[in-house]
Amino acid sequence: MYRTHTCGQLRKENISQTVTLAGWVQKIRNLGAMTFIDIRDRYGITQLVVEEHATEAVRETASSLGREFVIQTTGRVVERSAKNPKLPTGEIEVVVEALKVLNASLTPPFTIEDQSDGGDELRMKYRFLDLRRNPLKNALILRHKLTHEVRSFLDQRGFLEIETPYLIGSTPEGARDFVVPSRMNPGEFYALPQSPQTFKQLLMVAGYDRYFQIVRCFRDEDLRADRQPEFTQIDCEMSFVEREDILENFEAMAKHLFKTLLDIDFPEAFPRMTWADAMEKYGSDKPDIRFGMTFNDITKLAQGKGFGVFDSAEYVGAICAEGCAGYTRKQLDELTEFVKRPQIGAKGMVYVRIDADGHYKSSVDKFYTPEDLSVWAQACGAKPGDLLLILSGPRKQTLSALCELRLEMGSRLGLRDKSRFAPLWVVDFPLLEWDDETQRYYAMHHPFTSPKPEDIDLFDTDPGKVRANAYDFVVNGVEVGGGSLRIFDSALQNKMFQVLGFTPEEAQRQFGFLMNAFKFGAPPHGGIAFGLDRWCSLFGGADSIRDFIAFPKNNSGRDTMIDAPAPLAQAQLDELSLEVREPVKK
Ligand code: ASP
Repeated sequence: MYRTHTCGQLRKENISQTVTLAGWVQKIRNLGAMTFIDIRDRYGITQLVVEEHATEAVRETASSLGREFVIQTTGRVVERSAKNPKLPTGEIEVVVEALKVLNASLTPPFTIEDQSDGGDELRMKYRFLDLRRNPLKNALILRHKLTHEVRSFLDQRGFLEIETPYLIGSTPEGARDFVVPSRMNPGEFYALPQSPQTFKQLLMVAGYDRYFQIVRCFRDEDLRADRQPEFTQIDCEMSFVEREDILENFEAMAKHLFKTLLDIDFPEAFPRMTWADAMEKYGSDKPDIRFGMTFNDITKLAQGKGFGVFDSAEYVGAICAEGCAGYTRKQLDELTEFVKRPQIGAKGMVYVRIDADGHYKSSVDKFYTPEDLSVWAQACGAKPGDLLLILSGPRKQTLSALCELRLEMGSRLGLRDKSRFAPLWVVDFPLLEWDDETQRYYAMHHPFTSPKPEDIDLFDTDPGKVRANAYDFVVNGVEVGGGSLRIFDSALQNKMFQVLGFTPEEAQRQFGFLMNAFKFGAPPHGGIAFGLDRWCSLFGGADSIRDFIAFPKNNSGRDTMIDAPAPLAQAQLDELSLEVREPVKK
């Protein structure tokens, strides 16, 4: 037997037992007469003590140990004289009677501590060592628990977990596909699924009315903290449901996860907000509603007083930062610089301070009287001590710049506490999005999303106004899930393809299988998919999803540990009938 207990298991009750432990050397302290060794495994750390009167063999082995050696020891559990209340095993130690090196280790390139001295790149290259650290271990445990709770919740509600293939054709989620050449079909390629969307719909046609899958999805997109080229969805679909049934079911799942993982109750229903309101009040389809500071449209109030910037603007919007009238020149300059960053793109920022006595001071005093400013303040619900921050310009860009400014202010004012959660549903998205560059409509969600029945007539007259029966689940400004009721009628589906600019032949070639299936009794259906990695990072209080993935890619989509992607050998290329045009840069 390699071990009788784990390294996190022994307590006072075990005193005077003889135990065998196995694990890694965390730390060695040689105090002359005695040597202390911390032994670690996934479960914790136990202190071993090699006493002066230990056998020669034990003392010799102890002196040969280095960090991360794998050892096995047998000894007696005794009460510690100097207890360590920070360790669950801190009341005891094990007096070593036998000690064996199971495997030596090179000195690790960084410290295996909660706070490691290793840089990001080095830790990615030695991910197997990084994973020995507590923060990563806890992240993977959280992920396991979350997955487990999802499965048990959905199982209880009659959902079947069904796998769908990875080697498929193009899927319509709007990103680039990863493709895989087919050796047996030279010159032809599979695409990896961006989501199992079409397959889960086919499962509905097949009669599996409650489906889910915890499934890897692949999207060739530029990476960010919350994006990886392969990520995991909790993918779900239901038949014979209306929107309400789906929202009820998955709101219950979300509440179950908050309760079981974080012990947080949400007695009330999650708020719902239309997409139009979210854009108007927060400038985002994933509003962070942990704090207010919503937008106020003061376009009309601000125009006609000779201030050219506002007069010529399509939109003038203000947020009210409570209690910030004391902001210094420097702080205001910083904010102006912030909104002028190229990614945010505002031309400038106007402020109005309302001091404690109700006096107004603004950066546009030349154009506006205190009475003018007080009208704005009123429109924004501002009171003495508050600060108005105002941006103007084209509507869409200004709303999104104001969104960034609001989030920045929220962060500065400590209003985005990671231990507080504010979930909501955003509903009634537009069905289509116009793209100026390609002069065509794109599906905002995907082409199988059903329009709201009352908007179907607009399809022919004003497609941009058609609202979708789509919904997103948003928590703290993060889109955690999204889905829709689907089109299940082949004529309507055809119409949708047509609006999206597909010729009937293209639609047939790409999605003929689904259209065909719809002719064989497709039930009304709808579903949702959640980003498992995002859910984990939210619950784990982290910004990046990377820590919750055992072996993630870096920002250039590389796995630096196994050094992938890599060029293929000529023989492999030949076998696949592939020719690489550019010399491969390495
Ligand atoms: N397939 C969609 C997605 O990946 C989710 C859904 O509509 O169920 O976003």
